[in-house]
Formats: sequence, C-alpha cells, structure tokens
Amino acid sequence: MKIKTNKVDTLCAQEGYDPKNGESRVCPVYNSTTYYYESASKMADCFDLKSDGYFYSRLAHPNGTVLEKKVSALEGGKAGVACASGQSATLFTILNCCNQGDNVVASQAVYGGTFNLLKITLNRYGIETRFVDPRASKEEIEALIDEKTKLIFAETVANPAIIVLDFDKFAGIAKKHGIIFAVDNTLASPIMCRPLEHGANVVTHSTSKYIDGHAVALGGIVIDGGNFKFIGNHRYPLFNEPDESYHGLVYGNLDAPFATKIRAQLIRDLGAIMSPNSAFLTTLGCETLALRMRKTVDNASLVAHFLVNHPSVEWVHHPSLEKDENYALAQKYMPSGVTGMMSFGVKGGREAAVKFMEGLKLIGIETHVADLRSCCLHPASTTHRQLSDEDLIASGISDNLVRLSVGIEDSSDIIQDLAQALDNL
Ligand SMILES: *Cc1c(COP(=O)(O)O)cnc(C)c1O
Repeated sequence: MKIKTNKVDTLCAQEGYDPKNGESRVCPVYNSTTYYYESASKMADCFDLKSDGYFYSRLAHPNGTVLEKKVSALEGGKAGVACASGQSATLFTILNCCNQGDNVVASQAVYGGTFNLLKITLNRYGIETRFVDPRASKEEIEALIDEKTKLIFAETVANPAIIVLDFDKFAGIAKKHGIIFAVDNTLASPIMCRPLEHGANVVTHSTSKYIDGHAVALGGIVIDGGNFKFIGNHRYPLFNEPDESYHGLVYGNLDAPFATKIRAQLIRDLGAIMSPNSAFLTTLGCETLALRMRKTVDNASLVAHFLVNHPSVEWVHHPSLEKDENYALAQKYMPSGVTGMMSFGVKGGREAAVKFMEGLKLIGIETHVADLRSCCLHPASTTHRQLSDEDLIASGISDNLVRLSVGIEDSSDIIQDLAQALDNL
C-alpha cells in the first residue's frame, strides 16, 4: 500500500498487492509451477535469498506473497509463510525450533488435531510435549520448563473448550526463560486479538476458518513477530549457527528469522506450501474479515444471551456472558468481542441434543467452524464418537454438549431457528 496504516479495515481491503499502471486490479491466480529467467546469475540470486524473485512454486509464489503480506500486516508481524493447512502451519512452527530430544510446553486445551500431532505423532519422532491446564499457576507452568524446552504454545481461544488465554501469564514465563511463545489465533482472528501485542513471538492460523471464512479453501499461516532475540540465546543453536544448506546463513541475524527459516528449510524440504488457487481464494475472503468478524461476534453475543435464558438449555459457554469464567480475561484482551464459537448443553442428555440438532432448519450440521454460515456439531455422536461416557467426561465433553459456530446471517433468523428446535423437545 502507498500509505502506512494499522487500521484493519484498510489492511483487509488493500494490503498485500499494489498493481502498476494498467495491471489487473486484483492479483490473478498464478497457475505456474515455475518462473522464467534470462540469466542464470539472476536466478542464482534468488536461490541465495539475495533477491526475492520467484523460481519454483513449492518455495514461494505471488498469490502466497499477497496473502502473507495482508495477514502479517493485520497481525502486526514482520513476515508470514502460507501453508497447505492449519495442521502444517502448527507442524512447521514446532519443527522450526525443536530437534529430537527437545520439548514443547503446551496448553492442554488445544484443537484436537494439534493435540494428536503433539502427543502422538511428534512424540514418535522424539519431540516431547508437556501439557498443562492453561489456567494453571505460573509456578506449575514453570515447573515443566527445562533447558530442552524450545517452545511455549497455546490458543488465544481454545477450540472447543472456549478458554481465553491469559497472555500476561504465558508471555511473562516465556520472556523470563528466553523461550519462543507461539499462539494459535484461529478462533479470534487478528480483528479481535493481536497476540504479538500481548507478548507472543509467533502467531499461527488455520486460514480454513475465519480468514477464508467462506469454507472454500484449506490453509494455514505462520506469522513471525520479528520480536524474539535469537542471537546469543543458547537455547537456539539452529538460529545462531550457520545453515550449511544455505551457504552459511545465520537466521538469527535476519529481520524475520522464524519465517525465513521455515521457508528456506521446512517448506523447501517438506513441501506443504499453500497452493496459488487456495491463496487467491483465502485472500479474497480475508478482504472482508473485519466486517465479518464484527457481525459474527455481535450475533454470537445475542445468541449466547438468548440460549442462557432458554428453559431447555442447561448451560452455555461463551465469553460474552458476564457469568462466564472467561469474561474478565475476554474484557481485558478482546473488549470488542471474542469469537463466534460457543458450546452449550441441552437438557435431557444425548437424545435431546441429537433431537434438537435434527430440528434445525437454517443452522447446518458440519464439522467445520468459523464459516460465515452458522453451523453446529454434536461431538459425542460424531468427532468424539469412539469415546466411552467416562472418557467423554474426562475430556470435558458432556453427552449433551452442542458446539455452535455463529455466522453472519440476521441474528433474529438464527435465534428463531434455535428457538423452534428447542421448543420442539
Ligand atoms: C481447524 C484448526 C486447526 C487445523 O487447521 P486445518 O486447516 O484444519 O488443518 C488448528 N487450530 C485450530 C484452532 C483450528 O480450529
């Protein structure tokens, strides 16, 4: 953009792509795996990271760059890396700082896919995760840290537990021990919360959720805050020592060490980059992110207040409710709203929850969340179906729990749909 601003509506609409005279207003889809050069030395400069030209779409392509610039600006970061999915964004964040034998201290209230990745898959490759209740005391969290701890990881708003992160507590611990603090900001989006302003060093997203917002493209992104001092920090030899696979580059000396190292090593070697077409669709969605988020959180607050007063509803978890245990943290970090995600319990157990969902006409039944269309899910009979009733209780999922993702339809239509389904029980 030709002006400098940190206003999110302007960044959503215009950041990331500046056409020159007579060029297309919108960055077109670059369906090309490779890029043409007249001289070998010009291409060599790209390989050496001396020039930022494109050469092969597994490493970078213009559509990815547009999205990375836009989301990075929205988060207040230095640079971003667009990945094939939210899962690969999380994976790269961990592999970028952990070797075999290292460990991660992570909130136990994280997305199910993240939990499996950390607990089972990465553990198999020798990267251990020490899970902690995000509401634990500073001392309890610090007790898990040792010299092999390379990352502290949590979600701004935990999916699906809807626990709001105590940023000051986690950032304080990370800073004191000189450890990278990474936050998955998927459910809040940079419109409701910017983790870098609250002490995070790295922000990740499943862009498949609010950033795309239309349920059309799978993707993820890692944003480097450029605010972590690697040089001289003995925890991070990978950022202090020359990279032999990159002619002796020392990542810690760069402006965006975390993002550059992900692209130069991990995207290069593991390949999970976002496709040009997905980046195009995700960018298009992101142009209206600020508008959609405001409508989403306003609707969610109205819906949560309706549900909490309905006689067929046992309980509701949403941080907009004054009695919610996350209300104070939500007010502190996200005063203009948190997320469209909520969960609630239908009176009458599993059967009532299923009957309620089958009575819905407007709200769809989907495993997706953070779509502009309202949707819901009954975890006990779908995503958590294999668990026994005892295991369900242990994982905090009661058999009458309904997960609801409120969209941008007219709030009175959403509420009317919920009302008719509840009144029919
Ligand atoms: C969906 C989700 C992910 C995983 O993202 P995918 O794009 O599905 O791979 C990670 N974190 C959170 C909080 C999510 O909701």
